[in-house]
Amino acid sequence: MLAISDPNLLLGEIAIGGLLGVLIWRLIAWVRTAPITPDPWDIETEQKLSEPEAVELCHRCFTAQPDNAWFCECCGASVGPYNNMMPYVNLFSQGEVLRNGVMDKLPPSPLIIIGYLLYSLAFCNVFAPICWFFFFKNLKRVNKLDAAEI
Ligand SMILES: [Zn+2]
Repeated sequence: MLAISDPNLLLGEIAIGGLLGVLIWRLIAWVRTAPITPDPWDIETEQKLSEPEAVELCHRCFTAQPDNAWFCECCGASVGPYNNMMPYVNLFSQGEVLRNGVMDKLPPSPLIIIGYLLYSLAFCNVFAPICWFFFFKNLKRVNKLDAAEI
């Protein structure tokens, strides 16, 4: 067990601990009293979403999806509610992320670039440089497309 010989250090640690406790307490109070924001859509849209005839759509191609779909039959996007938590199916979700990085039109933001590099390093291991090659090739292609549109 550590013993603090200097009483000033002990007093400083108690003060820092008390300050952290107050900050945590204030954070909890702030979150509990925060106003509940309404949904970004109106009441009519909310009612339509809760109707039994409402169907789920693919977030990428807007194709109607059956209730038990894991991936869109049209474009291959992950549409299942628990794809990323299921041990076998999440491999395909991770593959979709990697495939999107090398084939889709991504906004060239630093967060996406760093995230893709780290993600591919974690899941592709020694093959990550191959992913990086095609990722940067895709970014270059997207930049050319954006320059041509302007
Ligand atoms: Zn789709």
